[in-house]
Amino acid sequence: MERIAVISDLHANLEALRAVLGRTADTPVYCLGDLVDYGANPNEVVDLVRDRQIKVIKGNHDEAAVTGDTSQFNAKAAMGSKWTSATLTDSNRKFLKELPLSLRFKIGGTSVSFFHGSPDDPLWEYVDPLTHSLLFSHYLDKLGVGLIGLGHTHVPYSISESKGRVFNPGSVGQPRDGDPRASYAEVQFDGDTSKVEIIRVSYDNEAAARKILAAGLPEVFASRLHTGT
Ligand code: ZN
Repeated sequence: MERIAVISDLHANLEALRAVLGRTADTPVYCLGDLVDYGANPNEVVDLVRDRQIKVIKGNHDEAAVTGDTSQFNAKAAMGSKWTSATLTDSNRKFLKELPLSLRFKIGGTSVSFFHGSPDDPLWEYVDPLTHSLLFSHYLDKLGVGLIGLGHTHVPYSISESKGRVFNPGSVGQPRDGDPRASYAEVQFDGDTSKVEIIRVSYDNEAAARKILAAGLPEVFASRLHTGT
């Protein structure tokens, strides 16, 4: 039986990432994008991901921080993106720029595909499991895989279809499902079946929120870490 950990939407929250990686020391880790924005430690988070050799795909916030195109963001998110872009080191900006838009691999008898948004629009589409559950079989069929991991919405779920499973590990750095604890997924592969467990981890969200305010970033980026919304 093999096991991996899947993290997503770290959003420059170093305290949350450290807490999650503290639980996954002996497990290969994959990341579904959005390493940066909203939080105060974009470089430290990218450095830690690079040090741990986590396999990463690109999220829409990583793309915006690299291209400077914030046209799809609201005013506060655009301001945050500009701050991130100005704060990133050249080396970390290059790392984010070169990230792939998807990952595909096989563990045991299960083929796996990972995207930040969706298989149709890997950077930007929000996949709401309530409205998309009918599409999940289509995604699994079209890609010819038994497991699909998606990020971007910051809301964790794991939905089983006859052809396989689609899951979202939730967000490490900025949960939006009403539970402020960091969220990630542990996936167990056994033959051609896979099992997904969503795990929540408490971390020092006070410290992360204080740093956001000290950096002069919008107050809502900090208050969200207390409410999980
Ligand atoms: Zn995100």
